[in-house]
Amino acid sequence: MIETLAISEASQHFLNLEERYGAHNYHPLPVVLARGKGVHVWDVDGRRYFDFLSGYSAINQGHCHPRIIAALKEQAEQLTLTSRAFYNNLLGEFEEYITKLLGYDKVLPMNAGVEAVETALKLARRWGYDKKGIPDQKAKIIVCSGNFHGRTLNVISFSSDPDSRNGFGPYMPGYEIIPYNNLDALHRAVTDPHVAGFLVEPIQGEAGVMVPDDGYLAQAATLCKEAGVLFIADEIQTGLCRTGMMLACDHEGVRPDILILGKALSGGALPVSAVLADDDIMLCIRPGEHGSTYGGNPLACKVAITALQVLQDEMMAENAALQGEYFRQQLRAIDHSHISIVRGKGLLNAIVIDHPHKDAAWELCLKLRDFGLLAKPTHGHIIRLAPPLLITRAEIDEALAIIRTSLQHFA
Ligand code: PLP
Repeated sequence: MIETLAISEASQHFLNLEERYGAHNYHPLPVVLARGKGVHVWDVDGRRYFDFLSGYSAINQGHCHPRIIAALKEQAEQLTLTSRAFYNNLLGEFEEYITKLLGYDKVLPMNAGVEAVETALKLARRWGYDKKGIPDQKAKIIVCSGNFHGRTLNVISFSSDPDSRNGFGPYMPGYEIIPYNNLDALHRAVTDPHVAGFLVEPIQGEAGVMVPDDGYLAQAATLCKEAGVLFIADEIQTGLCRTGMMLACDHEGVRPDILILGKALSGGALPVSAVLADDDIMLCIRPGEHGSTYGGNPLACKVAITALQVLQDEMMAENAALQGEYFRQQLRAIDHSHISIVRGKGLLNAIVIDHPHKDAAWELCLKLRDFGLLAKPTHGHIIRLAPPLLITRAEIDEALAIIRTSLQHFA
């Protein structure tokens, strides 16, 4: 289809190493990155790119944010891990900081996003048994089709994506999949007295930035409340200023019963995730019933406090809202026969490619790379465009120029 630049010898070396020695569980865009700063990354040949994936929204604060890296270095020289067998002088500080910031009684820190999802699901089941009186082994969680909550066996058990799920059975029971953005289906599902929780992404990121109708989250939360079902928001990708507010749920004034965070909680420095809830829910799990060796380690706590401070001090939610609005408006103004939809909120955006060639979005991403912008297709024909949140208007304009030029080569 489109002519793309040849891979350099230096880059090819690293591609070969990964191909030869690494599991083939990813299909990366052929570009080998060696450095990052703010909205930019550089490859091994010194070529500069805009990063419009931002580590799947883990790099909201920009690459190697100086304050986050300073905190990381400083703490790394003091104490990195105690395990939860002992107290450390940063966990409590982090717990106080994040719970006061987000308005919850308690937090439970983990590492990868999917671990926080697992934690939330365990918490909901336990709450269902202890507080709602669901008979033993009967707890059910409602989830949405098109969901993405991570890769563990439990979580893929309720995935509707064949690539994530097929060939990994047997699957964990206790889940019901309903259509996303469908309040009637939720209304019906929550009438089952065995339902403990409803797990939902406020915007489905991996599914291709599927933004639900206005009012969906608020009404879903109300339906859950009326039915005595926990509203569990997975804000791992949508949270921490990405969509133009601290949480995507804030757009509708929704306060989830259980809130799940990850990714940008460390600004890309190390895996840090967390589950927040009030005492009535969080204290259902007692000592010895759940945990993680690295969860709540002092290095992660120090970095997470700083990452959260940076988001607020640099007004990243406000910038995401402002630049996002402008970015979508400019994208929509591009008249190109193969872009069928532009959608998103804040700086979580996607364009949908309408092209007969099944690899068209991939080819366009190669062209974007050649002109200096990195993005990755999801589900074949959708390209997510999600730069770090400190991006300026001038940088957005530069990125738009790259997108326009790339599209001129895309017939
Ligand atoms: N939940 C959502 C909404 C995500 O987007 C992701 C990752 O993309 C996860 C959970 C899993 O996070 P992790 O890859 O850190 O386990």
